[in-house]
Amino acid sequence: MVTTTRRDDMTWFACEACGLLFDDRADAETHERSCEGDEPDYLQ
Ligand SMILES: [Zn+2]
Repeated sequence: MVTTTRRDDMTWFACEACGLLFDDRADAETHERSCEGDEPDYLQ
């Protein structure tokens, strides 16, 4: 799940699994889908 953090009057989007920060929500969501720090949803 992507979490939001306010810092220097900007909103940052963090990957909850690994803690990476993004300045764009779409980038964070794209990363989070492929991040292996969380439980895989679609592993076959
Ligand atoms: Zn991540």
